[in-house]
Amino acid sequence: MGAVEHDLDAVQWAALLAAWGGCAYCGAAPGADALQRDCVLPISRGGRYTWDNVVPACRSCNASKCNTEVTAWMRRRRLDERQFLLRHAELRAAARVGSAPGAVPLAATPDVAPLAATPDAVPLAPTPG
Ligand SMILES: [Zn+2]
Repeated sequence: MGAVEHDLDAVQWAALLAAWGGCAYCGAAPGADALQRDCVLPISRGGRYTWDNVVPACRSCNASKCNTEVTAWMRRRRLDERQFLLRHAELRAAARVGSAPGAVPLAATPDVAPLAATPDAVPLAPTPG
């Protein structure tokens, strides 16, 4: 696992767990310890290990999805792909304006240009002066 770029920090992961309240795909809630970090867009397909590409997944979903493209996989598993995509988009949008449940701190992430370098979290500290 050492080769993966670990952009996601513990605070962001905790916020994701709280926001999803269980497995992002099937809704199972086996407890935070049993949920694994799954990249919506697999690393092998150009995804990155960042808060907006990582969701909590139960062991079963994570193992089954593996490197499969998420919507194709969800359709095959008869999971609610639409619900997932909407929720995922909601969380990303909410986090972007700083009102996410659990307030995920993050820099502005453009929707386009997914390969662009994302600046590290912009500190929200007030500027003195
Ligand atoms: Zn699941």
